[in-house]
Amino acid sequence: MTSSKYSPESFRSQFPLFEQRENRDLIYLDNAATTQRPAPVIDAIVDFYRHSNANTHRSSHRLARRATEMVEQTRQQAASFLNARSGREIVFCRGATEALNLLANSLCCGLRAGDEIVLSTIEHHANLVPWQMMAARYGLKLRYVPHTAGVPQFDRLGEVLGERTRIVSLTGGSNALGLRPDLASIASQLRDRELHWIVDGSQLAAHERVDVQALGCDFFVCSAHKFYGPTGVGLLYGRENLMAAMPPWQGGGEMIAEVGLYQSQYADLPHKFEAGTSPLGSLAGLGAALAFLQQQDREAMAAHEQAMLQWLHRELAQLPHLRLLSQPQHNLGIVAFAPVDAAPADLSLWLDGRDIAVRVGHHCAQPLIRASGEGATVRASVAGYTTWRDCEAFLDAVREFQRISE
Ligand code: PLP
Repeated sequence: MTSSKYSPESFRSQFPLFEQRENRDLIYLDNAATTQRPAPVIDAIVDFYRHSNANTHRSSHRLARRATEMVEQTRQQAASFLNARSGREIVFCRGATEALNLLANSLCCGLRAGDEIVLSTIEHHANLVPWQMMAARYGLKLRYVPHTAGVPQFDRLGEVLGERTRIVSLTGGSNALGLRPDLASIASQLRDRELHWIVDGSQLAAHERVDVQALGCDFFVCSAHKFYGPTGVGLLYGRENLMAAMPPWQGGGEMIAEVGLYQSQYADLPHKFEAGTSPLGSLAGLGAALAFLQQQDREAMAAHEQAMLQWLHRELAQLPHLRLLSQPQHNLGIVAFAPVDAAPADLSLWLDGRDIAVRVGHHCAQPLIRASGEGATVRASVAGYTTWRDCEAFLDAVREFQRISE
């Protein structure tokens, strides 16, 4: 089986981890947790520490200038990756989690008790817990998009929007089911309302081109390690006028213009949200990851991923004693299921014994998994280097597990 001219094998050959003897036969289907990194990303990190290491902004020597230029160039690349209007709309964070905490803290301190925040039952804990913390602190109310067995009906979003809705923070793609909401429909339901719309694009950015201007969202967050970049760095996009009006979340060096003993003036955007020393090696790696992605035929890669996803759903649906929780439609790249007569952890151990890496558990989406009636699910998630052979071997191993568990 092949799909178009896209070659997952040649894509895979750019990832040194798969070249290591112990990983040559690895079938890595845990990409929703984190992807592998290609050579240019690893090289950029090593290169930064070997040749250019210095802190940014504070000093004015040659290496400090070079580090500063690297950070600002990466910011420009990130702006073009998300199609932001300028680098002033891009804040570097530790990841999507930190970006969401920043938004929760900076946006909620201006709200009044009784104001409402709309979420969905499918959100990653990173897009639930920070809002719960703010709700407890400021007396805010959390409302949820209507759902069936934990799966939101985003076309009914309007039912939970009201006079007091101030923030709508929804996933751009579920890490537990792969479900990708129709963001254009969400945008049209939110049009002309005075609220802030946040998209958690952590899963989306790995599989689709993102255009925040076309989307029309106010904020967008994602983590580099989900799209072949390093851990420890992520992006927060925010409309410039909104971010300019928001108070900073963390204080310290780098985020100030003038510091007095009793009060201080903050730096301009985006630095006012970047307190302290940035993860410079990771930012060098992020720049390389963005350049690497730009060189790929992302549409062909997505078509390949979708073809495998459809096939995996079709095949798994035919297996007895297995409950499929994910749907092939509007899915970013995840198959989620639970064996009926066996523990999901046993299946994942069985797969691990065959060098097939999947994730088992609640996938940081406990409310959803609980509502589905399962204690845990098995999740296999594809990426650009997943091959048809990987999919076949995975399926064979699941079938074999079923045979021996009967
Ligand atoms: N949101 C979603 C949908 C995710 O899949 C993840 C990570 O799995 C996160 C947020 C949190 O990302 P990070 O742990 O990189 O901050």
